[in-house]
Amino acid sequence: MSTAGIPAVKETKAQKSERLKLEKNPWEAWEEVRQFAKEGRESVLPEWANLYFKWWGIYTQGDGVGVTGGVGGEGKATEYFMMRIGLPNGILTSAQLRVIADLTKKYARDLADITTRQNIQLHWLTIEALPEVVDALTAVGLSPKGACGDVVRNVTGCPLAGIDGHELIDASPLAVEIAHKLTANPDFYNLPRKFKISVTGCPLWCSYPEINDVALTAIKRTVDGKEEIGYTLRVGGGLSTEPHLAVRIPAFIQQDQAYAAVHATAEIFREQQELRENRTRARIKYLFMRHGWTAESFLDALEAKLGYKLDPSPVTEDVIPDDVYRDHIGIAPQRKAGLSSVGASVLRGRISGEQLHQLAELADQYGSGELRTTIMQNILIINVPNEKAAALVLALNGMELHVDVSAFWRGAIACTGTEFCKLAIAETKGFSQWLVSEMEERLPGFDQQIKLHVTGCTNSCGQHWIADIGLEGKKIKKDGRSVDAFYFCVGGAVGKFARTARPLGYRAAAEDVPDAIERLLRGYLEARRPEEDLRA
Ligand code: SF4
Repeated sequence: MSTAGIPAVKETKAQKSERLKLEKNPWEAWEEVRQFAKEGRESVLPEWANLYFKWWGIYTQGDGVGVTGGVGGEGKATEYFMMRIGLPNGILTSAQLRVIADLTKKYARDLADITTRQNIQLHWLTIEALPEVVDALTAVGLSPKGACGDVVRNVTGCPLAGIDGHELIDASPLAVEIAHKLTANPDFYNLPRKFKISVTGCPLWCSYPEINDVALTAIKRTVDGKEEIGYTLRVGGGLSTEPHLAVRIPAFIQQDQAYAAVHATAEIFREQQELRENRTRARIKYLFMRHGWTAESFLDALEAKLGYKLDPSPVTEDVIPDDVYRDHIGIAPQRKAGLSSVGASVLRGRISGEQLHQLAELADQYGSGELRTTIMQNILIINVPNEKAAALVLALNGMELHVDVSAFWRGAIACTGTEFCKLAIAETKGFSQWLVSEMEERLPGFDQQIKLHVTGCTNSCGQHWIADIGLEGKKIKKDGRSVDAFYFCVGGAVGKFARTARPLGYRAAAEDVPDAIERLLRGYLEARRPEEDLRA
């Protein structure tokens, strides 16, 4: 039968993505990227370029010209790129940080961002620079591999793992093991979409297990009079356009079962063909939200995959952390007497190459040369002798990485926004900085923690769904012009009061946001009862 005159059916975004992923493991395309780099900015990139680059932690950034198309797309490599450097559990040495600082200065216009997954992100990279940047990172044990793409993303964990006096167990070796084994494993290069893992041995849950695809949190039980530390497993958390808090799976995961449980969960996710039909609904949370899965049915699937039964653990056995600051800002005593960690608040995660250099110097001078990034876009220097901590605070304050900050500064989070993100609707980094200064001026004595999260579009990389006040970027018409605006969501939380923020159905032009927040908070302060906070 002739098909003449019948228009070709356009491939969907999901179909195109799945086709390209089947054609090649993007991790094996690195030599071709090197070739493009040699050819320079005039090299013509193939259809797969935009997609495969992400497996190497590389995106085209939003303000260039050249490579076109969302998933894949031919074009010239005349655009600038951004690169995310994965830091499993946020662990970083001063030697590694110096390399990142050098790269930031040399290739990234002296500008880096700490992300909400403990990564460090560089911008303004040219195609020629990509191999040199990756080689320099590899030489110090770092990599952007897997920081983006349909793979296991940077595995997050408590930045004080191994040194905190309250932790049940140091879970950072497990976080790093998961990161290295799953990111390097070709069996997991083609997941339906991104897969976010968090592992923490501390009862504060500062790595937000509730919003990860899979999360392990340490738990203690007593069997026959003997105490045992294991893990609770949560599956299916995620924010984006349809927020969903992770479901607790009713099992006690013994320590020697933990890696296998995460591996098996990744396998279950990989095998769900129905999740590959629509990229906006391709996360594991949709098994619970749209495909009828429950905690019990997931446990059945997990045990079938593992080949053995897990110990039961009723939901009532869970110990959920109270509503406390979890950002590790300030001086905190470590488990080992005489040592402290010092956490500096990096407003909106933005930091310069020079500041990164200075941080490396300070980590050597005052600590053991070890640093940690946090999911609240901050940085800690650890193993600081107590008698040196105050001097370190002064040094940090002096380089605009403040330790003593207002509640607004401390609680501010901002995603990438229109400055570099192609999906963004509103600018976020500059706005967030201005908003914090406005709120500090308007409400100087505000006395309780407040999470003020700014996100440039519905994708919620700035986690507005778990903020006290979450702002989602929009555009509105004001005085005949299209201007940045923000949609208000309030009352989001993790931990004991975990819930996603309520949309207020109210949006304001960016320049009017401080007025609206001031009204909101003044009203709240007037009505506040002594024990109340914003989530009640
Ligand atoms: Fe980009 Fe939107 Fe994510 Fe912000 S939330 S980084 S604007 S995709």
